[in-house]
Amino acid sequence: MIMCSLGSDLIMDDCLFCKIIAGKIPVKKVYEDDKVFAFEDINPKAPTHVLIVPKRHVAGLKEATPEDAEVLGYCQLAAAKIGRERGIEDGYRTVYNVGPRAGQSVFHLHLHLLGGRDLNWPPG
Ligand code: AMP
Ligand code: ZN
Repeated sequence: MIMCSLGSDLIMDDCLFCKIIAGKIPVKKVYEDDKVFAFEDINPKAPTHVLIVPKRHVAGLKEATPEDAEVLGYCQLAAAKIGRERGIEDGYRTVYNVGPRAGQSVFHLHLHLLGGRDLNWPPG
């Protein structure tokens, strides 16, 4: 696995979401700034299902370090902004799936934003 550093960005050459961020795989982009990239989930589980992804490669929440604390909060604020813009503030959820037993299938940290329908509690 080759890792290359572009400024403050860490990019993994065999990571699906690093490729998406680099524009190598087409997605429906929702939002982008210098810290995060957000796009429509290819297999949506709700009318709004957006993935908010830090540009810097981190495998997942359990691999995050204090260095990642700011971007973790920033992802939540990006989700709140998208939720506001989508008019789904009557009920949405932000979720990190952490580890295979929780359904994590892509090992580049990503926050799911789900909304636009009733959401059950507890989740399955
Ligand atoms: P998780 O299962 O929590 O790791 O979430 C990974 C998410 O990435 C799933 O909800 C997938 O549907 C989504 N996904 C996988 N490949 C793509 C892709 N090429 N474009 C958009 N979303 C994707
Ligand atoms: Zn990555």
